[in-house]
Amino acid sequence: MCGRYKNMHEAMKDSTIIKEIKHTVLQQECPACGHKPLNSTIAILDLPMLGEAIETTIICPNCGFKTSDVMITEQNEPVRYTLKVNNPEDVNIRVVRSTSGTIRIPELGISIEPGPASESFISNIEGVLMRVRDVLEGLEYENKEEVAKRIREIDMAREGKKEFTFIIEDPYGNSALLSDKAEKEVLSPEEAKNLKKGEIELNPQ
Ligand SMILES: [Zn+2]
Repeated sequence: MCGRYKNMHEAMKDSTIIKEIKHTVLQQECPACGHKPLNSTIAILDLPMLGEAIETTIICPNCGFKTSDVMITEQNEPVRYTLKVNNPEDVNIRVVRSTSGTIRIPELGISIEPGPASESFISNIEGVLMRVRDVLEGLEYENKEEVAKRIREIDMAREGKKEFTFIIEDPYGNSALLSDKAEKEVLSPEEAKNLKKGEIELNPQ
């Protein structure tokens, strides 16, 4: 199997997690090229342990611009999931990341924070590691030795030769780890306030 994960439901080919898919046309202009209309897909998902989630994807048929987000219907409070990945099987655990989700892997120095260009995805831990690996491989002007070292660490983690901690936090409860092994905490209002939310904020000057 090659290591490229480009599809939305990259980790789910084996399951019947999609309950319903609706394709519609949106009478809106593409923010990238101005083309109108845009294609929209709404997928109703049935997530193990979490219940229903709604994934929305908007694609421009002209330039390929794509934006997507996921909302978990029954989990509304700010959450943090923490998982010790110490078994090779653990990289198959599913990850739901909405645009407001923050992912951290301290042992690998990885942090994926919400931002104006942040992407939602439903994948597994290996898929997240592959995304970071792809980004590292694309860094042309960085210190080559350092990049190669980071890629080696990621590969060891993927192969179960390096233990690490996978943390995902979301102030709106729209991100999750789908495993009994993951520890789930509901965050206090203070903790939730300190999380980045993936919105463009205007700070008073
Ligand atoms: Zn476009």
